[in-house]
Amino acid sequence: MSEPPEWVICFLPDGPGGPRAHEPLTEVDARKIAGVWAMLGGDPERVDVDHRSGTTTAYDPRTRKVRFGSDVYPGLGRSPNEAMSMPAVVAHELRHLERHDEGVAFDDADLASADEALTSLEATRYLGLTTAERWQLIWDALQRLHGLRNDPRLPIEPTGFLARHLRMGLTQWVEERDHGY
Ligand SMILES: [Zn+2]
Repeated sequence: MSEPPEWVICFLPDGPGGPRAHEPLTEVDARKIAGVWAMLGGDPERVDVDHRSGTTTAYDPRTRKVRFGSDVYPGLGRSPNEAMSMPAVVAHELRHLERHDEGVAFDDADLASADEALTSLEATRYLGLTTAERWQLIWDALQRLHGLRNDPRLPIEPTGFLARHLRMGLTQWVEERDHGY
């Protein structure tokens, strides 16, 4: 077992014009984020918003709070993780917090991608999400698992049915997104 990470970072850092948003969050943004958090059942005392540009959204296991940064909004990226909407991201972060509260989060850094995938899948259950937001979370989970298929420890090479569905899932997601669901 390795040490738990200081922060559970959900998106890769990026710059202006990057795959996720970079602009500073406004007060209106902060109210919208807090509104979704409350609608999903999140405790308002356990959320912070970092208004500065280029800040990351993450769960902090030490303070047991979520911090939303400028990457809470999607940018120009086309992959499921890059293009997740703000409400889907809020649901994902709330589920991180709850998984830690429940003691079911994986502390092992080697299992970080699997923990992220489960977090997204489990976040689909929140009442108040739209069907499109649920699909975004499902495709995010699929992308995380798709990344694991290159892990050299994987005892089998995904072929046939599995490989085809991993590819189809990502392609279909982009098509649905481009057609506005
Ligand atoms: Zn995450």
